[in-house]
Amino acid sequence: MDLDFWESMVGEAVEESPYRDIWVVVEKKGDALAPVVLEMLGQARRLADSLGVYVKAVFLGESTEELRRELISNGADVVYVSDDPRLNEYSTEIYTKVLSDLVEEGKPEIVLLGATGIGRDLAPRLAQRLGTALFTNCLRLEIDEMQRQLLATYPLYGGEYFQTGVCPEARPQMATVLPGAFRPPLPDPSRTGEVETIAVNIDDVKVRTKVLKVIGEETRPEVPLGKAKIVVSGGRGLGDARSFALVEELAAVLGGQVGGSRGAVDEGWIGEEKQVGLTGAQIAPDLYIACGIAGAIQHYAGVLDSKFVVAVNKDPNATIFQVADVGIVGDVHEVLPALIKELKEAVY
Ligand SMILES: Cc1cc2nc3c(=O)[nH]c(=O)nc-3n(C[C@H](O)[C@H](O)[C@H](O)COP(=O)(O)OP(=O)(O)OC[C@H]3O[C@@H](n4cnc5c(N)ncnc54)[C@H](O)[C@@H]3O)c2cc1C
Repeated sequence: MDLDFWESMVGEAVEESPYRDIWVVVEKKGDALAPVVLEMLGQARRLADSLGVYVKAVFLGESTEELRRELISNGADVVYVSDDPRLNEYSTEIYTKVLSDLVEEGKPEIVLLGATGIGRDLAPRLAQRLGTALFTNCLRLEIDEMQRQLLATYPLYGGEYFQTGVCPEARPQMATVLPGAFRPPLPDPSRTGEVETIAVNIDDVKVRTKVLKVIGEETRPEVPLGKAKIVVSGGRGLGDARSFALVEELAAVLGGQVGGSRGAVDEGWIGEEKQVGLTGAQIAPDLYIACGIAGAIQHYAGVLDSKFVVAVNKDPNATIFQVADVGIVGDVHEVLPALIKELKEAVY
């Protein structure tokens, strides 16, 4: 903004904020960039253009030329890299320290992280360390250009309502972005940008956790969910990961594939690639069985083309029953074992 013009309008000196630019914290999925990174870059570019600032991607851990180029062609003006192998595996304490040091020094106006397992762990801690606010699971980001304020919109009550928040005082403004909420930008291979190496100081970080084993994500199901004839999905109603095994068992008995709601993904019982719905897989099986799933529109949007829907839910008023061909009112912990038993006896 032209400060001279603004000062002449308000009649007093305006202190220019030292905070500038929009930062996107990069996350990898396997050897590639996590899709949410590109989705965030698209939004960061749009917001940065309206503020007249740069988009900077922060890449912790070893990076490749190809990934840095991908960040630039998708909207980054600068890529901060720290090819320190100690940052290859995510560590809450180390990442918080490195990022909070960087933010304190670089003073970005806005910091975006993915609402992924890592982002959800890191962002609140980082916000607390920086003494600022955090908007989580955002699915709309706009700018009030006059106030240079981020308007962050996020769902409440599982998507029933939406709220838009601002952080008027503290800087940086921070948000986590819901994967799948935005389209990735069209990459422009002719874009140019800078790669800057950053120094990190992590020798003094007290790491209270130790990574014992990294359990890789299950490889994609042999039959992609979109092509499966039978899909059995589980939701938050399963209660815990151990009970989610009932969904897997029922799918196995029926020769089907396992899916799940966002609720199950958020709980960490299944990977994102198995999420069914608006921001997950759109499926069209002959038989869809929804177990312990409320039936939010965002979930149901992914199964509209199913030929036959069976729902198991203990709440007789659950929305899923409005769209099911057969509804079983009951506890999944009782209904699923009984179904599995019946089916096994019928098959063998
Ligand atoms: C932009 C946006 C995109 C989204 N995209 C998706 C998407 O792609 N897919 C998706 O699924 N969601 C999506 N969501 C989230 C969606 O709005 C819901 O929050 C989510 O589907 C809820 O998951 P759930 O039904 O498993 O959990 P909950 O809403 O917590 O429902 C759990 C259900 O289980 C039942 N239950 C509890 N205990 C038992 C038991 N013992 N036995 C039987 N039933 C039980 C409860 O009655 C309840 O109905 C999106 C939201 C937004 C805002």
